Amino acid sequence: MKIARIEVLPVRLPLKAVVTLSRGVSRTLDEGKQVVLVKMTGDDGIVGWGEAGPSRRWSAETTHSCYTSIKHYLAPVLVGRDPFDIAGLHAAMDKELAPGLDPGQPVAKAALDLAAHDLVCRKLGINLQSWLGAKGADRIELSYLVSATDVEGTAKSVQQGLKEGYRAFKVKVGHAPQLDVERTRKVLELAKDCTVWVDANQGYTLEAALRAARGFAALGIELFEQPIPMSDFYGMKKLLAASGMTIALDEAAMGLPLVVDLIRREAVEALVVKVNKTGGIFYARQLCDLARNAGLRLIGSGLMDAPIGFAASVHLFAAYGIDYPCDLNGPQHIAGDYLAEPLPMEGRRFALVPQRPGIGAVVDEQKVASLAIKL
Ligand SMILES: [Mg+2]
Repeated sequence: MKIARIEVLPVRLPLKAVVTLSRGVSRTLDEGKQVVLVKMTGDDGIVGWGEAGPSRRWSAETTHSCYTSIKHYLAPVLVGRDPFDIAGLHAAMDKELAPGLDPGQPVAKAALDLAAHDLVCRKLGINLQSWLGAKGADRIELSYLVSATDVEGTAKSVQQGLKEGYRAFKVKVGHAPQLDVERTRKVLELAKDCTVWVDANQGYTLEAALRAARGFAALGIELFEQPIPMSDFYGMKKLLAASGMTIALDEAAMGLPLVVDLIRREAVEALVVKVNKTGGIFYARQLCDLARNAGLRLIGSGLMDAPIGFAASVHLFAAYGIDYPCDLNGPQHIAGDYLAEPLPMEGRRFALVPQRPGIGAVVDEQKVASLAIKL
């Protein structure tokens, strides 16, 4: 089988609400959730779909950079290749756009990786979880993201999440330690017997992170995502030693070589895996294997993924049996999509592993056309 054609289709999905990170809102209501869809057609006519949905305040990629990188650099070197040789596809992409400390525009590469996985699984008539060779679970639990920056907004957000049936809450912090601890206290007050953890998205200095960690630990919070800048390995070790919390690395753990180095330096004990930040399923599954074999705690997350990225993540996290609630908050924030039929869910709280061949997202091309944007 050969890849005959790759089409690149940027779309904008409307948002219900914004997410506020330590650097500001990840995308405005006006911007919406922009996604670069990739339609990969095999020489036998079978089609696979992938997508790139970058978050420009989370990492350096944008809708525009994903679009031009896929269209002008990555897709041209994949046409004519065998989609079953996924390692070969990645080698070809890495030759065009070189990896650095991260895998080199991983969100753009993930779109093609997902499309190739979707294509080969559809060809074989199996779902992605079967391709991964592990039936760890048939569903995953989702968490509700709390990103209001004041106590009142935080309370409202948690009440909404509880009303929708969620039992796990991830709180965006990384602003001012004292206020962040107060907001988290409010979350715990309202979300009794729920799983609650915090994510600073690199927002604190080491000194502020240590102060905040003392406050969070006193509240009984166990998990603290990416407290300090991703390049501060010294600080990560210091935080591991000085706080009793589990420090999870997210932005610092984009690619395998850097994670191997962090393990050698004894600077990591928990990893946040995202399908898109690693360059797709091919590397995300290796990151999961590495974490499992190194005895690291595994956390599943995303970048407010649209349905294709969301479903691919559900397959991966279910395959690895990640038992911590996953921060896949697309359904919480995205108001409309390009699907012909909704993905399988159990209420809002659980995402079921799609059983149809491939990733399981059935794309409605008329909807894609109506959501199209010009870049
Ligand atoms: Mg994170």
